[in-house]
Amino acid sequence: MTRLLFNTESIKNFVIHENEISFYRNLVKRFPLDILMAKAATKRDDYWGKVITYSKKVFVPLTNMCRDTCSYCTFVKHPDDPEAKIMSPDEVLIAARKGENSGCKELLFSLGEKPEKRYAKPKKALAALGYNSMTDYLYDMCKMVIEKTSLLPHVNAGTLSKYELKKLKNVSASMGMMLETTSKRLNKKGEAHYGCPDKVPIQRIRTLVAAGSSKVPFTTGILIGIGETFDERIEALLLLEKINNQYGHIQEVIIQNFQRKPNIAMAEHPEPSLNDMLQTIALARIILSPSISIQAPPNLEREHIEYINAGINDWGGISPVTKDFINPQHPWPNIDALDTMVRNVGFELGERLTVYPKFNTQQFLSPTISAHISKSANKFHPTEKPKKLVSA
Ligand code: SF4
Repeated sequence: MTRLLFNTESIKNFVIHENEISFYRNLVKRFPLDILMAKAATKRDDYWGKVITYSKKVFVPLTNMCRDTCSYCTFVKHPDDPEAKIMSPDEVLIAARKGENSGCKELLFSLGEKPEKRYAKPKKALAALGYNSMTDYLYDMCKMVIEKTSLLPHVNAGTLSKYELKKLKNVSASMGMMLETTSKRLNKKGEAHYGCPDKVPIQRIRTLVAAGSSKVPFTTGILIGIGETFDERIEALLLLEKINNQYGHIQEVIIQNFQRKPNIAMAEHPEPSLNDMLQTIALARIILSPSISIQAPPNLEREHIEYINAGINDWGGISPVTKDFINPQHPWPNIDALDTMVRNVGFELGERLTVYPKFNTQQFLSPTISAHISKSANKFHPTEKPKKLVSA
């Protein structure tokens, strides 16, 4: 039986079959969690060895305005909110320099989705800066970062067209967008993605596919505990595997847990348990190609070190200078403390760049980015720790 996810010509190759979902559903029923985790950990060890990586980065929230209204978001500000803003070029550069001086190698641009398409205020603010769209402004900010610092831009701008992806590829080392879920139910009234045009699953799948055909090293992932069913989690992971099989561009899959916060529409919604996270991480490792890095954030669960036993090989971005703007109530772990915790369970903590070594090819990196990586090599490989950096 076929589970026809999306009856659309452009993504017809990515149909998920019901028996694929039931296979993994039964696997979880048949094996206790510790056996599942051991299987996943062995698969991780075979490909990634005993190193858990992270990227030292500075976060730049270019704008906190967004045309979507996800029920779990604390990052977004309505344009009428006094805290709503678009960062100026000077503010971007100050943040970048601060990150560079603290040893960061990556600058992560995170921003709300196309606020100028819904609201007059961001449109006017962009016009005052000399731009028609956030994407054009973002392009120039990436260019400035490359010209004035050694940092590698990573772009997290939500759904993008093929044209936008190709343009931004010239000035960014990698890009990302969480798939989050394949559940169309969650766009209905009362659900997490009601009234969010960019959270209609097909829009995100189109971006993932366009990133693949544009050969963009890409980070994606799923957000668990926002109302999706267990089958829908499996479905999303199977879909990511199928898309990557076609294009080979997915470098990381993040498994992120929903966090309850005061003042959000989902303030009373239950959070996923540690076991939910461990089970999903193990399943992701079992379903996905071994070369895909599996990442889970270290600041959203007290027992995060357990994630290593479930098969992760990466913690994602950790910043010595900026907070987690998406989960501001959860500070990043101290890198030295994390190093000790990782060693205590028999692994090493390694720093990596935003772009993984296998994507350092002419197909995946623009000439501008390749030249920038070569030029910054001495900053990426500080002499006192030459072997600690897993770099492109
Ligand atoms: S798309 Fe992102 S920034 Fe916009 S409301 Fe949703 S989670 Fe927040």
